[in-house]
Amino acid sequence: MTSIDDSDDATAQVGITAASMDLSGRQYLLIAIGDAPSTTAKVDKWARDLASAHRAVALYSLPDGAGVEDLIDASTVGVRIMISGAESEVMRAIAVARAAGILPCELFIHISHVDVINVFCPHCDTATRALARPDHTIECSGCARDLLVRPHTSSHRAMYLASVA
Ligand SMILES: [Zn+2]
Repeated sequence: MTSIDDSDDATAQVGITAASMDLSGRQYLLIAIGDAPSTTAKVDKWARDLASAHRAVALYSLPDGAGVEDLIDASTVGVRIMISGAESEVMRAIAVARAAGILPCELFIHISHVDVINVFCPHCDTATRALARPDHTIECSGCARDLLVRPHTSSHRAMYLASVA
């Protein structure tokens, strides 16, 4: 076993997070955001897989993505971070982690379920919160234009990008 999971999430496809988690880390932070059963089930599976590969694992449960920053501050060089949770909070955690200097290969995510996402309007720079997926069309809350949600995310803004439909 050289890696423990594969990701088909959009952030992995564009290289913001890892496509699979390697086993060369010194320490693995497994972070469940929220307490949805699908979230904790995934983190438990990661913990079992890493334990069977004899890796050092620390488990955390956070109410939202912003708390990831404190864990990163307290972590050591060579840490790997694996995050599971609702999409909007995972996206927030990615933005926090990347801002803290975590590299894509050190960061692995699993979106256990979707809640609302934030969509960034290129026309008026407004963020619209919506229950939507890539390729859906939503109305911008700022300029009322139809926005086509694109499969690309901005790790900087923790938002989905869109084009005016
Ligand atoms: Zn707009």
